[in-house]
Amino acid sequence: MTEKQYRGRIAPSPTGLLHIGHAVTFWRAYERACAAAGKLVLRIEDLDRDRCRREFADAIIEDLHWFGLDWDEGPEIGGPFAPYIQSQRRSRYLEAWEKLRLGGLIYPCKCSRKAGRDFGDFIVWRRDDVPAYQLAVVVDDAAMRISEVVRGKDLLVSTFRQLLLYRALDLLPPRFFHTSLVVDESGKRLAKRHGSLSLRALKENGLAPEELRARYMSKS
Ligand code: GLU
Repeated sequence: MTEKQYRGRIAPSPTGLLHIGHAVTFWRAYERACAAAGKLVLRIEDLDRDRCRREFADAIIEDLHWFGLDWDEGPEIGGPFAPYIQSQRRSRYLEAWEKLRLGGLIYPCKCSRKAGRDFGDFIVWRRDDVPAYQLAVVVDDAAMRISEVVRGKDLLVSTFRQLLLYRALDLLPPRFFHTSLVVDESGKRLAKRHGSLSLRALKENGLAPEELRARYMSKS
């Protein structure tokens, strides 16, 4: 990919309300796209049908706007690489899967996702016929010409898996920028279970976006 234009993305999974930890990472992606005078893409990663809900996707979009974020392409505004909702992009994942299969690079396996060792083989297509996150994200980032992926450090192992997929699919990888995770007073990572730290709850408690950014961005 030529570095003509910076293209970043934010890719929330609508499994719940947006958490401050994610919002901070997305803000970082937004800042980096703005600093490079580039474009930012919003992609909804809703492949996990049991856990994702349309209402959460709507709420995430609303909360991100409230937080001060904006993007150039996405499900509600369209763009040259639409659709921007993963559940509508299945044929692209199948194509990639077929390429891996024809190349003899994948095999049927009974392992569950949880069974994977960090650096062993990993799942590219799930038993319940859903493309795995690793495959979908590579296919989409490449198709949407993303030049830099900004994500939390917790996804470092995923990044390496994805680099293997880029190579196997003969695609040029983007750059990766890993952000520190937001932690609580005891140094523990803030996870979704901290319900009070959803952007929505913080908003309802009267906190302003600027205040939240000042409070949480300094640590990331
Ligand atoms: N949907 C993933 C998440 O919310 C995207 C992460 C990524 O690929 O950067 O964790």
